[in-house]
Order: sequence, then C-alpha cells, then structure tokens
Amino acid sequence: MLLIYPPIAKPSEPPAGITQLAASLLAHNHPCNVVDFNIEAQLDLIALEPEYNDNWTRRAYRNRRANLREIRSQSLYTSFARYQKCVLELNRLMEIRGGRTITASLANYQDTSLSPLKSDDLMTMARFPQRCLFASFFRKRLPHLLADPSDFIGISINYLSQALSSFALIGLIRQLAPEKKIIVGGGLVTSWMRSPHWRNPFSGLIDYCIDGCGVAPLLKLFEDTETRQVPPRLDLMPLDSYLAPGRILPYNTSSGCFWNKCSFCPERAEKTPYSRKNPARVMQEIGMLRRDTAPVLIHLLDNAVSPSLLEDFSEEMPTTPWYGFVRVTGHLQNLDYCRQLKKSGCLMLKLGIESGDQGVLDRLEKGIDLALVVKALENLHRAGIATYVYLLFGTPAEGRKEAERTLEFTIKHHRLITFLNLAIFNMPLNSPERQDLQTSDFYSGDLSLYTDFSHPRGWNRRQVRSFLDREFKKKPEIATILNRDPPLFTSNHAPFFCKDIGLFGES
Ligand code: SF4
Repeated sequence: MLLIYPPIAKPSEPPAGITQLAASLLAHNHPCNVVDFNIEAQLDLIALEPEYNDNWTRRAYRNRRANLREIRSQSLYTSFARYQKCVLELNRLMEIRGGRTITASLANYQDTSLSPLKSDDLMTMARFPQRCLFASFFRKRLPHLLADPSDFIGISINYLSQALSSFALIGLIRQLAPEKKIIVGGGLVTSWMRSPHWRNPFSGLIDYCIDGCGVAPLLKLFEDTETRQVPPRLDLMPLDSYLAPGRILPYNTSSGCFWNKCSFCPERAEKTPYSRKNPARVMQEIGMLRRDTAPVLIHLLDNAVSPSLLEDFSEEMPTTPWYGFVRVTGHLQNLDYCRQLKKSGCLMLKLGIESGDQGVLDRLEKGIDLALVVKALENLHRAGIATYVYLLFGTPAEGRKEAERTLEFTIKHHRLITFLNLAIFNMPLNSPERQDLQTSDFYSGDLSLYTDFSHPRGWNRRQVRSFLDREFKKKPEIATILNRDPPLFTSNHAPFFCKDIGLFGES
C-alpha cells in the first residue's frame, strides 16, 4: 500500500496519522510505502527560480538555502526579528507562485476559482489537475511510486488547505494508474462524513472513504483484524527535512476528549468517542520513539491531555521538552505540580480559556472557573511554563458586554499570557445548539462544516470582527502578546521561543 500526505499543511513536523497507519500495516506484514508530499512539494516550490523578480522575491530566492539552513538551526530562535525575516522570505517563494487565483503559503492553499467546500469544484480539480500549483511536482514523483505493485493508495486529508491539491493528486493517479484503488481518510474526510448532509459525492473517483481512525478499516481491506498496538513509524519520514530546529515528535495519547461537553466544540458535535492509551504504553512508546528519532521536542496532539496522564508525565516523563493542549483543571492550582511539569520538560501548555466572562463559560459548558484560570496562569508563569491561550468570540452565549469583559481580563492578566489565539465562533452544522437558533448557509458548498446563525443578541460576525480589529488587538498589552506569535507556524514554533525570550521564571 502507498500512503500519501498531500500539501499544504504546516511543514514543521512529520504527519502523525499516516505514520501510525504505516506502522500498523507493517506490523501485520502488509508492505507499505509512505510519503510526505507536503514537505517535499513545498521544498520543491521553494527551490524553483521565480519568474517575477521584484527586489524582495529576488532576495528571498538568493537567501533560500541559507534560510532553509537557518530555520533548521537552534540559533535562529534566539532572535525573533531574524526568525520573522527568514520565515517571510521562505514564504515569499511560495506565495509568488500563486498567480491570479491561487494563494499559497507555508501554511495554506486557496484558489478563488475553486472551493474545497464544493464537491463539484473538487471533482473539477481531479479532472484538470494541471490547475494545481503542485501538478508538475506530482507528475515528477508519481510514476516511480505508482510502479509499486500494491493495489491501494491512501491519501490522508486533514485540513481544508490540503483538499484541492489532494483532488489534483487523485486526478493524476486516475490518469496514470486507473487500476489502483484510491482510499481517502483523515480529519477533514471524517468531518465531511459525519456531517448530516454527507451523501458521498466522490463515488466513481474514490473507491473508499474512511471515517475516523483508519487502522481497522485498512487492515480489513487485507482481510486482517487489528490485534497489535504499535507506535507510529516516524522513521519512515524524512525527519531532517522539516522546517524546525531539530526533530519534532508528534504523538497522540488519546482521541476524542475526556470532557466532551463544550457546546461550541466540533469534536462533541461529531460525536467522536473518547479513548486513551494506557499510560504504561504511552511511556513505553514515547521512550522507544525518543531512542529511534532523537527529537528536540515532543508535540502531544491530544484535544486535551488527561490530568492523570500529566501526573504520570510529571513523575516519569524524560526531559525531552514537550507541549500540548490541556484543560484548566484543579491540578494547575498546585504550584508544586506545575513545577514538576516544568521539570518533566513541559515548555508550553495550550489552554482553551475562550472567555473572560464567567456567565459565558457556564453557558458554553466549559466547566472552568475564572478564579481557577487566574491561579493556573499564575502558577504556570511562576513555574516557567509558557501559555498559548485560545479565546473565542461571537458564540451565542456572548454579547458585546461579555466580549468587553474578555478584553478586560486579557489586559489585567497580560503578563501571564505568553501567546494568544483569537477566533470567531463557527457554528458546527451538527451542533445541538442550532436547534434553538435561526440558521442559514454559512459558506455555500455541500461540504461546508458550518452554518451561519442569527445571533440572539445581534452580536454578529461583522461586529465581532470589527471589535477585535479596532479595539481588542489595538490595546498595547494585547498587541505585545500578538506580535510575538511566530508568523505562519504559530503554536508549532512557539515552544522554540519559550526558553530564550526572557518572559518566564519565578516572580
Ligand atoms: S475541552 Fe476542548 S476538545 Fe474537549 S469538549 Fe471542550 S473544546 Fe472540545
């Protein structure tokens, strides 16, 4: 079997999903080849001499090799200004390729003439793959890979930014090797398949669509049943090609979410069941992967790492630095616990705080108390652990007054917040909340995952956006936090700045 990870996703670490699939297939003696077209295609594009030569592009092209060396070196991450210049120059070589309709970056791919939310547009892309920026790269790489005798090709589509190029890739595979069976899976395909409107518009082009974890369905194709639990085979990936100052080890300790109550959450709306690996297995697999891949950073991919596993980490985790998403729980009220996390290598925690208004948090069923949030932020700050705080605006539970309280909260505690992510609420199509609201199409497209809604208090997207742009982001305390966010790579590179930007330590 051939497994492909298509462009574009942030190219800082190997993809976790297909390395897990490859590991399971190989452990069951099914031959498997796995390729990361995301990093390969981006590097291919960066290496091509651009046609349009303004001074910036010319400089970016001249510096491309030095910038690729720098972005993979630790020293770049000691100067944010140098880092910014390096990333923006590399990105310039991506965006200059786009032409009139395509916008490509190190983190995104959009085409104003084709929407990844419309199945007709995706089918058009499959019919005319030359419209994709990566068509010539695919043509270069595919013949050799398709010579493999295996019947199946799996494509892992996780983000909207991968959808158009995935369908160009599928179209080319159909042209070059019509006898191969094509399977698609991954996070985006799962979301599509769990939408109430899903009717599989791709039959005739794609042989199998997989909802959720692909291990068991793929093994079933080979008339095998899943028995062996194995760690992902990251060693099959080009580990030294990624744009990071060393190898990053992405690792899932669970799927779904142990809380699973937040009313705005797509995970809950998609009814993803919670399951977690046994802690002994987590420790053993991470230990094995550390030995095999020598990472400089472990990225825990869970929606929320469970507090009990964090306790195990704080006792047993080796000192390889790590970061991940956690819920604000009572554990973080204990300063010694936070210090222990720090000792275990925790550089940064991502925290979904969402709002600075307790009423909003309660109505969202977030299950956190603002006094606890403040205590947790203080303890993490004292322990020297950076925080990447996620705020969400425009939920049905929020009006302008409540958004202003979030603004006050953020300013009041700005010294405890290292990085900030601001998002405007999208109502998942299958959210139970939509029953009480007047809804209408959000993005026109049969594959859209969200619905527009009439805000019960008139706090609509336009007003929220204007509040964020004209008021929230303008406050000097908040602008300082936003300005330190690594461009394009955001939280994926943020931990590399946590040791050196002098923001932490006992106070
Ligand atoms: S904690 Fe996060 S993943 Fe879990 S339900 Fe809430 S928003 Fe969803």
